[in-house]
Amino acid sequence: MHVLRIFPDCSSSFATRSVLIRKLPRCTNSYLSSGQLVRRYHENATLKDAAAVVVGAGPAGIAVVGNLLEEVKDDGKIVWVDEQFQGGRINKFYREVPGNTAVKLFVDYAEALKPFRHILNTAHKPNAITELEKLPQSGTCSLSYAGDMLNLLTAGLRQHPRIQTVEGKATSAHLDLESKRWTLTTNSQPSSIIAPLVVYCTGAFPSTTPLPSSSPPIIPLDTALTPSILSTTIPRDQPFTIGVIGGSHSAILVLMNLYRLATTSHPLLKIKWFTRHPTLRYAVQKDGYIQYDNTGLKGKAAEFGRTQLDGDVLLTSEAGKFITRIDCSGGKEQEWTLLEKELKDCQGVVQAVGYTPAPVPEVSIGDDKPLVKLEKDARTGAFYVEGEKQKPIGLFGAGIAFPEEVVTPEGEREYAVGMWKFMKYLRKVVPEWVEASKA
Ligand SMILES: Cc1cc2nc3c(=O)[nH]c(=O)nc-3n(C[C@H](O)[C@H](O)[C@H](O)COP(=O)(O)OP(=O)(O)OC[C@H]3O[C@@H](n4cnc5c(N)ncnc54)[C@H](O)[C@@H]3O)c2cc1C
Repeated sequence: MHVLRIFPDCSSSFATRSVLIRKLPRCTNSYLSSGQLVRRYHENATLKDAAAVVVGAGPAGIAVVGNLLEEVKDDGKIVWVDEQFQGGRINKFYREVPGNTAVKLFVDYAEALKPFRHILNTAHKPNAITELEKLPQSGTCSLSYAGDMLNLLTAGLRQHPRIQTVEGKATSAHLDLESKRWTLTTNSQPSSIIAPLVVYCTGAFPSTTPLPSSSPPIIPLDTALTPSILSTTIPRDQPFTIGVIGGSHSAILVLMNLYRLATTSHPLLKIKWFTRHPTLRYAVQKDGYIQYDNTGLKGKAAEFGRTQLDGDVLLTSEAGKFITRIDCSGGKEQEWTLLEKELKDCQGVVQAVGYTPAPVPEVSIGDDKPLVKLEKDARTGAFYVEGEKQKPIGLFGAGIAFPEEVVTPEGEREYAVGMWKFMKYLRKVVPEWVEASKA
């Protein structure tokens, strides 16, 4: 179950809302290149007749918009808000990351919906999808291929007559209980959009945890996942020891990148690997399903883990010449002591300790109870007011921030994260969302 914590400062959101309702002109000052001051007045525009608003244009937002185009009838307009419309984090930060899912699943994602197929059929060839189709379909590929495919779909969707895009940030959402309409506020134009259905696909960013004060500077995980930037961040001609904290997919990819640097351009590089799990977990193909599909290592990370890092393998592997494992399995106190001791002589540290949902636009409901605690049903994707699960409010979430909860055949609960998994899930739930928003 996801809990969405709603803003502590309700007064500011009230103020914003009353301004929006009265549609006060906003005044901004800017300079022309000639240096002449120009005063501009922008009328805050409200878009009143949207069928749905989607916040976020990563893989989840793209899939939600495509599904809504199929499910919302009567030519209802779908408003789509993002600051960049660049395929989300996969395209922005992970283009040099090896994919962990089969190429075929990226193709399946791109071909899953009628509006997507129309975009592919009318796009000039060769294009991102023809490039994907050329690759061995059961193998994996660089995420740059997926990024290009997401860009192709985004560009096509932005041309669709029923889609209106807003380049900006969604800042708040308010539900009017009488009309059952949301007003989504943006920092752009239109500055507010009224619709019965709102979907948050706002993504997640690398988590960080407190480190001892003696720790070296942090090298961001996004940098460590991008070899071309990582190689210029770490000096080549002087000894450099880097700490890597974490034991799951991203941490193994970082270790793989660092090992490659150490064996090529950065011979003076050493790595201290802080992990709570000296042995690794892999996704395993079983009869008709993949065990540890959402938690185990896959693709190149699995291969590197198995051959270079796992348990005793590290003691004799090539990577073991550069990587020293610091066993943090003895509990939090011991882990802190080890971090204090071992990070002292490092010159940089990478934290690969998971991903945190991005802050969502503030939510308020009704005039008498603006501050509400929302929870989310991780099966249906619907948010609801705490304790009122039966009452749909027309607010939903998807993607890495709000994934579907699944139960594995072994009875373990996992979150289903991956582009094809988002698509499969959305095919199932978006018709229910549209139906619920009519009530
Ligand atoms: C290292 C790594 C490797 C992965 N590899 C794979 C893989 O091989 N295959 C696979 O299928 N999946 C993979 N995934 C999982 C998943 O597909 C990605 O994490 C994907 O980026 C999640 O998509 P998303 O749309 O949920 O979020 P994001 O890609 O983070 O997109 C969120 C979007 O919302 C926008 N946004 C946020 N807040 C606002 C706001 N208030 N207003 C307007 N816009 C907003 C952001 O700007 C962004 O564009 C990987 C994940 C990671 C971390």
